[in-house]
Amino acid sequence: MNRKRAQRLLTALAAGAFLLCSLLGWPEARAAAYRYYRQQGRVRILAGLSGYQEAGSARFVLYHRPGDGDLAPLILAHAESVYDLVVSHVGYRPVGRVPLILYPDRTELRAAYGWESGQSAVGVYWRGTVGLLSPKVWIAARDADELADRFRRSNPIAHELTHYVLDEWTDGNYPRWFTEGLAQYVEEMATGYLWLEAGASLDQPLYALSELTERFDALPNQPLAYRQSYSLVAYMAETYGEDGVTEVIARLGEGAPFDRAVETALGRSMQAIYADWADWARRHAA
Ligand SMILES: [Zn+2]
Repeated sequence: MNRKRAQRLLTALAAGAFLLCSLLGWPEARAAAYRYYRQQGRVRILAGLSGYQEAGSARFVLYHRPGDGDLAPLILAHAESVYDLVVSHVGYRPVGRVPLILYPDRTELRAAYGWESGQSAVGVYWRGTVGLLSPKVWIAARDADELADRFRRSNPIAHELTHYVLDEWTDGNYPRWFTEGLAQYVEEMATGYLWLEAGASLDQPLYALSELTERFDALPNQPLAYRQSYSLVAYMAETYGEDGVTEVIARLGEGAPFDRAVETALGRSMQAIYADWADWARRHAA
């Protein structure tokens, strides 16, 4: 693109953004732009599936390869069984059926989300879709019964579904640490599983709230960033009640910035809650 055309495009984009903001107001304009961005991502991911079959339940659609067809009933039944738990914690019921995509191997999962070869996960939430790695890849089991049993005790569906519901309700209006904390909190409730590693001990210098908020994905000790996020959300739920956390989310759904949502819902600033939590964590770790 030459410079003149690039300039014209930028001017048109800026004019469009200005028009959207003045017609709708900033929070609504931001949410509308985000919904468009999320919808484009979902369309792209679903359009990229070739050779996949569809299986459905009341509230989910599962896209899978023929070789994973035998897992569809297990995955859909488990997803249905955690749906109400997730909805009650987020305080919102998503519109329509939730798309789940079951990838047959790590290569396809990585290719779908543009990950590098070192990146790996058994589940991912991305722009209105939930991607899952086939449990045949990551659970070593002697037979189908053992695989089903181990899958029910440790799988990422409640975690990724929490990201999905929170994102749909608030249109991306939350810090990364909060969605990761909430997703782990609900996941532990659903399956009993919590990601813990030696590096995640709270008995070490902790990340400041500003670090968690501003550069979560760039923090070098990811297990610690995730652990702090989980612990902060669990602390908020214990201190202010699960209703308090749901109330924060409701304010986010109305477009309030995170700090204002917390202060309105809980009557205390996030900075002060973080300081209370850090005191608690120090005493707890010792
Ligand atoms: Zn997550």
